Amino acid sequence: MLSLEHIRNICSGEILISEPLAPMTSFRIGGPVDIYIEPQNTDELVALIGYLRKTDVRYIVLGNGSNILISDEGFRGVVLNIEKHFSDVSLDQGIVTAGAGVRLSKFVDFCVRHGFAGTEMLAGIPGTLGGAVIMNAGAYGGEISDSMIDVTVLREGEVRRLNAEECGFRYRNSDLWDDIVLAARFRLPEGDEEQLRARRKELLIKRNAAQPVDRPNAGSIFKNPEGTFAAKLIEECGLKGRRFGAALISERHANFIVNTGGARAADVIEAINVIRREVYAKTGVELEPEIQLIGFADDVITPLHGVTS
Ligand SMILES: Cc1cc2nc3c(=O)[nH]c(=O)nc-3n(C[C@H](O)[C@H](O)[C@H](O)COP(=O)(O)OP(=O)(O)OC[C@H]3O[C@@H](n4cnc5c(N)ncnc54)[C@H](O)[C@@H]3O)c2cc1C
Repeated sequence: MLSLEHIRNICSGEILISEPLAPMTSFRIGGPVDIYIEPQNTDELVALIGYLRKTDVRYIVLGNGSNILISDEGFRGVVLNIEKHFSDVSLDQGIVTAGAGVRLSKFVDFCVRHGFAGTEMLAGIPGTLGGAVIMNAGAYGGEISDSMIDVTVLREGEVRRLNAEECGFRYRNSDLWDDIVLAARFRLPEGDEEQLRARRKELLIKRNAAQPVDRPNAGSIFKNPEGTFAAKLIEECGLKGRRFGAALISERHANFIVNTGGARAADVIEAINVIRREVYAKTGVELEPEIQLIGFADDVITPLHGVTS
């Protein structure tokens, strides 16, 4: 059992009970969390995690909620939001340090303004640095880990600095899932500020034309399988525009599901299971979700055994 009084003694930031999570996600879907906490600094976070680790209460860190689907029942446990209080970006001797709560748009802007290249492709990804590090977010041939020196994490209750090579970065994945990302440092190649601005603008225009940015969504639902694109396979199966309750497989980008208003997590899960089944039956490719599912039973994604391809 958690003691709220003890949590309040540890943490001076906001603490909310039965807080709805849908407004904290880009999908605008999901039920409430039992306890929502905004630790104000690393000391509070370390003390809080030390306490939570002594209980059997589950906890997760929420970034900007742009890569998650929360179940309709919500999350039984604690959500920690470090977005507000871990959002500094600084430059020292050619090294950019960014806190986990920094929005990627702010991080990119900082780098561009200081004439550093290699982050422009991240503009338009609506996440925090912490969420992007965990996911190894990327676009247009680049990934956030490309020019990374190291990552500071809270691991097993201790603050540790890991070299980028120790983080196991790979396509939309890392080995940091049991950690809390606190910050990352980058050594970026120099570039011309005007050219960097132009490149960022060009990629933003391209992104906005290709993605259904006018409706709530959670970005790509599936990872791209080796050698092809999830969107292409979904489109080839004739699934574009298929509706599941108020969840719609986007007409503009088939790897996006949009919330047309009042969609439930169950609608999105049904869409995911149908897409996986039909793509597997037609092409033999097993699509793997990229979005993180929070508050669901382990077997919510139906196995494809028995589906013939
Ligand atoms: C319109 C749109 C376009 C997108 N385009 C792209 C794209 O081009 N490329 C791409 O890679 N992604 C894209 N995404 C997905 C998403 O924006 C990225 O994955 C982003 O990096 C997620 O960051 P977040 O802060 O929103 O993470 P959240 O969604 O809040 O969290 C994602 C996961 O990371 C964990 N997490 C978050 N912060 C931390 C932390 N500090 N420490 C430990 N764990 C943490 C969460 O618990 C969760 O499991 C897009 C999303 C949208 C809505």
